[in-house]
Amino acid sequence: MAWKTTRRLMAALYLAAARHAVADAIETSVPRAQAMLIKEDLGDGIFVFRAPEALDVWTSTNTVVVINDEDVVVFDSCTRAVTAKAVIAEIRKLTPKPVRALINSHWHQDHWSGNDEFAKAFPGLRIISSEQTRDYMKRMAPRFFVRGLEIQDQKDREELAAAIKTGKLADGKPLTPEIRKSKEEDLALRDAFVAEVLALPRVLPNVVYRDEMSFWSGQREFRLMSVTGDATGSTVLYLPGQKVLVTGDVLVSPEDGNGPPPWTTNSYSVTPWLETLQRLNALDLAAIVPGQGPTMKDKAYLRRTIELFAAVIDQVHAALERGVIGLEQVQAAVNVDQIGRAYAPGASLDGFHQWVATFSKKAMQESLDGAVRDK
Ligand SMILES: [Zn+2]
Repeated sequence: MAWKTTRRLMAALYLAAARHAVADAIETSVPRAQAMLIKEDLGDGIFVFRAPEALDVWTSTNTVVVINDEDVVVFDSCTRAVTAKAVIAEIRKLTPKPVRALINSHWHQDHWSGNDEFAKAFPGLRIISSEQTRDYMKRMAPRFFVRGLEIQDQKDREELAAAIKTGKLADGKPLTPEIRKSKEEDLALRDAFVAEVLALPRVLPNVVYRDEMSFWSGQREFRLMSVTGDATGSTVLYLPGQKVLVTGDVLVSPEDGNGPPPWTTNSYSVTPWLETLQRLNALDLAAIVPGQGPTMKDKAYLRRTIELFAAVIDQVHAALERGVIGLEQVQAAVNVDQIGRAYAPGASLDGFHQWVATFSKKAMQESLDGAVRDK
């Protein structure tokens, strides 16, 4: 009895310590978040702040800060309030000028969750997005952004409870104290993130445009284009004077820039996405800031991604035209390993194969007006 009580007490203490550690991780202080941001200086008053996944929890996302003669323009407002506060603190270190315009590239939560912090810090702020993006945002209750996490949480919690009962995981392997600790920490971190997202005030854009929009600050021109990327109605920003393109998630690389695109899209508009990339490739560019990953100083990654998208779409079309019917067979007919390897020579293609399978399905859905057969 004493032993059992001790063990229970130890487990409770242990869990409390684990929760404390993750609570620390989620309740990141602004100075700590500032220290975690990766800053890039592109010259001409243009800065990129890259939030690592260790800070953002959800993903790692880039914010661009453009300091003009009299004001500041910001592109995308981070995943978490603390990240947005850290970027604002960095802006104040760079300049006393106010942020007058904030552009939201698309509706995914890692690109506009700091709108509230920017609006509080800079009264009269104009928040700009495409009309379509604002429409999506206004229909998305806060829970929309975490429902998937909550469902996963419930499933993981039930699985862990069963594993604790039997001492075995679902695959029959033993539940070691290390595995249990790691699972409990993951659950606690997810809970804390969900609670944070649900408590976040959602501030919508107050300026919208269709197709294209330009504005000037001093001599600097800001050209916005509504395009298709990993979200429909995404905005990219082009600074013609500086030849800088800011893509949001129309173009993404892994966090370290090393490898093929890490994710695809919710929709199956893959050909419009490819056409967007081709349109961007026609611009005169000195630098490309992707939605995630380091700034690119040439078009190599963009062109390789165009090649990749085009190859998958072509191979899916060819398979369907040969009479292949089922999804698995279409996926098996697509082989773009050579392009995948060219992104990161020597790297494993495991994650890439998953990406190719998903993108192939989307290309198939697009080709068949959504009418995909599994077999
Ligand atoms: Zn996105």
